[in-house]
Amino acid sequence: MYKRIPRNMKNPRMLTEKGREDFLAQIGRLWPAAKGSVAEVHKPCVREGCKACMEGRKHRAFILAYKDGGRRRCLYVPEERVAALRSAIANGRRIEQLLSQCGAEIVKQARRKR
Ligand SMILES: [Zn+2]
Repeated sequence: MYKRIPRNMKNPRMLTEKGREDFLAQIGRLWPAAKGSVAEVHKPCVREGCKACMEGRKHRAFILAYKDGGRRRCLYVPEERVAALRSAIANGRRIEQLLSQCGAEIVKQARRKR
């Protein structure tokens, strides 16, 4: 599910000023960013004799699941915001990949210095 960092994303050299600039530039291009997941659901409504519900199609809705501290939360997402939200979540994953690389880079640099 997690894609590899595209080749044009350099591995930031964390412990130098250039590394900091590279990092900030990459993060800056990944805005807006978000963390969570979007799910499509089909829910029944409360209208009596609703055709969509009686035929089993029900009503399509989108839900954002995210964590607030340790608490799992959900929000309904207006359909016209779904694409933007998914794109922001993809950016958030790239930022997380970048942070993972930064941790590894800090350790590798310490090794090189020995
Ligand atoms: Zn209905």
